[in-house]
Amino acid sequence: MTIYLNGKLVPKEQAVVSVFDHGFLYGDGVFEGIRVYDGNVFRLEEHIARLYESAKTIDMRIPMSSQEMIRATLDTVAANKKRDAYIRLVVSRGAGDLGIDPRKCSKPTVVIIVDSIALYPQEIYDRGVDLVTASHRRIPMECLDPRIKSLNYLNNILGKIEAVRAGVPEALMLNHHGLVAECTADNIFMVKNSTVKTPDLMQGALGGITRQAVIDLAIEAGLEVRETVLALHDLYNADECFLTGTGAEIVPVINIDGRVIGSGQPGKRTLQLLEAFRELRTRDGCRVDYDRIPEPAEA
Ligand code: PMP
Repeated sequence: MTIYLNGKLVPKEQAVVSVFDHGFLYGDGVFEGIRVYDGNVFRLEEHIARLYESAKTIDMRIPMSSQEMIRATLDTVAANKKRDAYIRLVVSRGAGDLGIDPRKCSKPTVVIIVDSIALYPQEIYDRGVDLVTASHRRIPMECLDPRIKSLNYLNNILGKIEAVRAGVPEALMLNHHGLVAECTADNIFMVKNSTVKTPDLMQGALGGITRQAVIDLAIEAGLEVRETVLALHDLYNADECFLTGTGAEIVPVINIDGRVIGSGQPGKRTLQLLEAFRELRTRDGCRVDYDRIPEPAEA
């Protein structure tokens, strides 16, 4: 496995980062999770744009342009010769001292990992999944805007622990007003009377790349789409419900907190959107040129 680390492609064993890195010490940094489908890096430009927006909000200057970041990502995929993969792109504040002052970190650390993708079992798509509502609320925007894809995932992890305890794959997270925000690592959608609805981002959700792709596909299919305010009551009484995310793609939800959603089976619109997404994923993005393999840097 070849890793991109601060401008160089190095073997995995040499891809090491300082224990003084504020990404490690404080979760001070940003990241992206991106999929490669048959040599197509899905919506790469959108992921890179989100990365730079996250970095700007936490006042961290990434030491390369977004075009250079796109090139580095494509080169790392090519160097690993993977046609289907999961990319983890991390930019941390860099090595500093033991205090939190980011001015002590002279340069951000940039890491790109291209790994095999751990696919969800097919059963998840055939049967659908159950959700529970986590007791932990999503961090309010005025404290840490959930649109920032930061390295600090403790809020989401606490929600995930509740899902694990309940024996379900995902938990729903509400905002501090008790309205639906998103899940611990996925966005949430519902369908009612052929209208597709998802919480608007001001409710406290990450602007998911898959979420936007699904909105685009739903509009293309002639469905009405509303980014709106949703309460648990709306989800419990939806005709259909589904999750979206880079790893999950589109996963039907059939039960929330013990309430059966719609018919208790993956919904018609959900399956229609999943089919459209599977067609889109290999053509919407940046193609990898596998012949352009840069030499890994010397040790
Ligand atoms: N919300 C959260 C909190 C996430 O971590 C993610 C990414 N796993 C998503 C939503 C979905 O975003 P995307 O479609 O860009 O993967």
